[in-house]
Amino acid sequence: MRFEAPDYLNLDELLTEEQKMVRESVRRFVDAEVLPIIADHYSEGTFPKHLIKMIGELGLLGSNLKGYGCAGVDATTYGLIMQELERGDSGIRSFTSVQGSLAMYAIHAYGSEAQKEKWLPRMATGDAIGCFGLTEPDYGSNPSGMLTTAEKRGSSYILNGTKMWITNGCLSELAVIWAKVDGKIRGFIVETDRPGFTSTTIHRKFSLRASVTSELNMSNVEIPEDNLLPKVAGLKGPLGCLTSARYGVAWGTIGAAMACYSEALSYAKQRVQFSRPIAGYQLVQQKLVKMLNDITTSQLMMMRVAQLKESGGATAWHVSMGKRHCVSMALDAARVTRDILGANGIMDEYQCFRHMCNLESVSTYEGTHDIHTLIMGQKITGLAAFE
Ligand code: FAD
Repeated sequence: MRFEAPDYLNLDELLTEEQKMVRESVRRFVDAEVLPIIADHYSEGTFPKHLIKMIGELGLLGSNLKGYGCAGVDATTYGLIMQELERGDSGIRSFTSVQGSLAMYAIHAYGSEAQKEKWLPRMATGDAIGCFGLTEPDYGSNPSGMLTTAEKRGSSYILNGTKMWITNGCLSELAVIWAKVDGKIRGFIVETDRPGFTSTTIHRKFSLRASVTSELNMSNVEIPEDNLLPKVAGLKGPLGCLTSARYGVAWGTIGAAMACYSEALSYAKQRVQFSRPIAGYQLVQQKLVKMLNDITTSQLMMMRVAQLKESGGATAWHVSMGKRHCVSMALDAARVTRDILGANGIMDEYQCFRHMCNLESVSTYEGTHDIHTLIMGQKITGLAAFE
């Protein structure tokens, strides 16, 4: 069925024909290829790998990067792509975000020319998959405490450590690994077939079930010194990637909320209780109106962040503001939709419960809701409350 997005403020008038065209092509892709299969994959706990090549062919991998076979779209178009993908499932959007905005972005921003030429064109087509290893079992919100090390030995580095909750881990040919060299965080490209490198799938998740989440172990993994990302040192390296990815996460969750709103509205118009469709009751209308308002204000917020990105004025805290707001908004929309659908809301023939479970992870990864609150808190008070 063709998805019709709500647009009560005529926001489409703010978009170019090209932006609308890209959005339309991703929307049709999600309708045709994602929605018919996603509930089964979610139920089985499998990632639909056959979509990878299609996502690559649509130009959605690293779509906001310039050169090296990447589409080089503007910030708004990139946001719309994420919105449409997550209308299908947060797992599909997560795959695309990690590949493009974390792994490819790290190489694009911090890599040597040889690294970019070797990896980015194959990653843009989906022929090579990458992951991003920052989080460790004991260091999530505070990655600066990481224990993974890289020791220089001759013309090699030797990596030791464990990375946890790594999206795309077991799918990947390369991992961008953040590790400490003499106490300083550096980024490395680690081919996952190197001796001593193992990845294990994390099973039994209630959330992001149609996404591969892995633990990575490195035991004396030797890589050539050329695999060091030369252009960055310190926590600003991974944080730069996260700012790029969080921007897409914020947009993406609007898509999940749109899917829920649309489901809630159509269900409420059909479901008759007492004397009329439940959409005719004031309490239900209040819920639907709040959802619609929240989606619209979130789109406006992210369109403004997109403008700031285009003009070079976007900062990490603008992106924090967007991620914090949009994820929380989408979680509310998913929960309210589940409520409007009554008992049917817990079934996988409807989307809201799947989105709700996914969004719990999205609220945690790429900086938790709390951490983004603290980033904003520091911005407005001048006082850091992290420690
Ligand atoms: P913790 O940091 O232990 O936080 C637990 C709670 O404490 C949270 O509520 C948090 O907000 C709160 N908290 C922490 N510090 C403070 C503070 N100073 N003040 C107040 N409250 C605080 N990581 C990667 O590197 N690569 C990936 O590809 C990746 N993919 C993921 C996929 C999934 C499905 C999930 C669930 C996670 C993924 N992550 C990934 C990890 C994710 O980024 C971390 O889970 C996240 O940073 C939070 O870390 P944590 O889980 O260790 O929680």
